Amino acid sequence: MPVFQELPLLGTERINRAYLRISVMAPELAEKCRPGMFFELKAGLPSQTRRLFKPISVFEASEGKISFLIKVVGPGTRALAELKPGEPLLLLGPLGNSFHLVKGQNALLVSGGIGYPPLAWLKRVLEPHNRVILVHGGSCAEDLFPCDRGYTLDGSSGDRGLVTQDIMDIIKTENIDIVYSCGPLPMLKALQACVGDLPHYASLEAYMACGLGACHGCAVPVGEGWQRVCKDGPVFAASLIRWEEL
Ligand SMILES: Cc1cc2nc3c(=O)[nH]c(=O)nc-3n(C[C@H](O)[C@H](O)[C@H](O)COP(=O)(O)OP(=O)(O)OC[C@H]3O[C@@H](n4cnc5c(N)ncnc54)[C@H](O)[C@@H]3O)c2cc1C
Repeated sequence: MPVFQELPLLGTERINRAYLRISVMAPELAEKCRPGMFFELKAGLPSQTRRLFKPISVFEASEGKISFLIKVVGPGTRALAELKPGEPLLLLGPLGNSFHLVKGQNALLVSGGIGYPPLAWLKRVLEPHNRVILVHGGSCAEDLFPCDRGYTLDGSSGDRGLVTQDIMDIIKTENIDIVYSCGPLPMLKALQACVGDLPHYASLEAYMACGLGACHGCAVPVGEGWQRVCKDGPVFAASLIRWEEL
């Protein structure tokens, strides 16, 4: 059972106007992290006392250090960005399941916006045993991160358009065996429509409150019933999701 921890922030690195990378030293927690898992995070600042924790994916866990790549979009992520090294970061995790790992496959990883962090780590984990292509898309240049093919809606970097627009071609020309994804719901839906019968593991970005499966606020239609993104996911076999109900 994950427990709440309060750890001093190790460091903050501004990537650009919207994104930053923060890290903590937590060897015991880092050992348990796998690509796809996330933490509920909150800045240990007086302004945040009455605010909810925010789900943030593990961007990397190695040598005892856990890193998160965060886009500042509102009060919770803004407070995380304001935290200075040495100030307290409150964490609950690692939470959720992780991506199914394979060997000897041609893997296509597709991320959109803040779906990038778990797939960037997954790429590094899969690469020694597979051929891996990471395709990433965002609104503008500041949403683009290192990848094999990048797309922006405004055309300011990479190809202009949606990250899903060339997927059918890529699947065919690269002889793709398996697809992994993380990003906004419309992107995941469009992607599932392109992948056909290929195995596809999608990590869902649902709104969530407790992060522990207690409140059922993040339930999504899967199989014959409903499953909680925080506890049963965030990674699901995409073929089991009832996309038409989302
Ligand atoms: C499993 C999971 C992993 C995530 N990993 C990351 C990560 O690695 N890095 C990162 O920057 N963000 C990640 N997020 C999204 C992050 O949790 C939200 O951006 C954050 O909670 C926003 O909090 P806030 O208080 O700053 O803004 P809020 O005021 O809560 O929201 C600001 C804006 O963001 C939108 N928003 C908030 N939460 C979500 C959500 N879950 N899905 C879609 N839109 C949302 C709101 O509609 C609003 O428009 C993840 C979400 C989930 C569910």
